[in-house]
Amino acid sequence: MTKLQKLNQSFQSQVPSVDKLLRQDAVVGLMEIYGRQTTTNAVRALISQTRLEFKANGRKALETLLEKNLSSLLKNWLEHHSTPSLKLVYNLTGTVLHTNLGRAPLPREAIEAMANVARGASNIEFDLSRGKRGDRDDHLEKLICELTGAEAATVVNNNAAAVLLVLNTLSNRKEVPVSRGELIEIGGSFRVPDIMKRAGAKLVEVGTTNRTHLSDYEDAIGSKTGALMKVHASNYTIQGFTNEVTGKELASLAKIHDLPLIEDLGSGTFVDLTKFGLPHEPTVRETLFNGVDIVTSSGDKLLGGPQVGLITGRNDLIAAIKKNPMKRALRVDKVTIAALWAVLQLYRDPDRLAERVPTIRLLTKPENEIHTTAKSLVGPLSRALGQSFTVSTIPCKSQIGSGSLPVERLNSAALSIKPDGGQKGTALKKLSQAFRGLPIPVIGRIQDDALILDLRCLEDVAGFEEQLKRLDL
Ligand SMILES: *Cc1c(COP(=O)(O)O)cnc(C)c1O
Repeated sequence: MTKLQKLNQSFQSQVPSVDKLLRQDAVVGLMEIYGRQTTTNAVRALISQTRLEFKANGRKALETLLEKNLSSLLKNWLEHHSTPSLKLVYNLTGTVLHTNLGRAPLPREAIEAMANVARGASNIEFDLSRGKRGDRDDHLEKLICELTGAEAATVVNNNAAAVLLVLNTLSNRKEVPVSRGELIEIGGSFRVPDIMKRAGAKLVEVGTTNRTHLSDYEDAIGSKTGALMKVHASNYTIQGFTNEVTGKELASLAKIHDLPLIEDLGSGTFVDLTKFGLPHEPTVRETLFNGVDIVTSSGDKLLGGPQVGLITGRNDLIAAIKKNPMKRALRVDKVTIAALWAVLQLYRDPDRLAERVPTIRLLTKPENEIHTTAKSLVGPLSRALGQSFTVSTIPCKSQIGSGSLPVERLNSAALSIKPDGGQKGTALKKLSQAFRGLPIPVIGRIQDDALILDLRCLEDVAGFEEQLKRLDL
């Protein structure tokens, strides 16, 4: 017998059986909470782990399986494996629409609509008045048209899907001229040239990075051209010696050549944000009004709704887009439709948007209000952190995020936490880890030897304060 076989045999003879462990009172209690299958799996996992430790450290490892230790170890394992991996966090990064943190928080009305429709069967594709099969776009199309002035509209999984579907429908195996200044990458995984290729469209680069003229597009148009496309540069700006061809100018050129003009607005919005004291961002309505035939935009950026891609524009083109079999693969589900409908409903009353749509509310939150919240938290936070940190309030700048209005910054206020003494880097890393380890993880940013918590997006102040005592430093 090899040494390993001997060890295994020795372990086997000393370890209690799974059945025996499962009969212990404390384990029976856990089984009632987590179910027989999961609890058995937990016991098996604990035995395997003990076997490894037994091989390394001998008999002492068996103590984990003693009745007095078993229940708490199992409880930890079961709790750990039963908490959702996806959870709410406090986004105190200072980036309001943070792609890695789920972008727009939804309005209460949308959350209720989602829960309601998720409960049972629904008429998602059923026409209740005629008693026949219906179209899932019918729940949203009229409302989108009312709010944007579009002739027709459809909705897909996200804006990347919208761009893919539009290009594939209108310019598969055809050429699409795009300005070199608009060949952008967004958040690493969305690149205009790549998505065009996957859509089957052949990119024809026109102009230069900083200057593109109408004649550049004119020269690129030929018998193989399928559409003209404009892309909102979203997350960067070009300054200095620049020239960009406007949607309006491109629209007249497209008309002369009988080509559809597509514009990917990126964020896009349904209201004039300057009304809320925010910088101007092109609305879907004004883009269509300028003569663009098809506009694509996101649901979970400035609109403040669920993750969707909105496709708005000309009737005949939208009809062709809806007929593309790819639409079936990119469609949205009933829960998303319910949420989007509820959000769009709020847009019919623009006067109350800033109260009701959290994204607009967060973007328009006055600096002094954020500062007041920050001041109120200095005391509780200092007490929770103890002697080795200095907490203070500082003015800071939030950004909108998700490629919306990239250079604009919003005046905000933050809590700054500075470790005292040396080893600042290590202390800050540990501190941010402790914040991330809270029941509702807190995500801030490290800057100038401090952990900065921008409080613009903190709405649940009491919940934030309540869990500070659980900081594990
Ligand atoms: C954000 C963005 C996209 C991608 O939109 P998603 O909704 O994230 O898929 C595409 N184009 C532009 C210009 C964007 O800003």
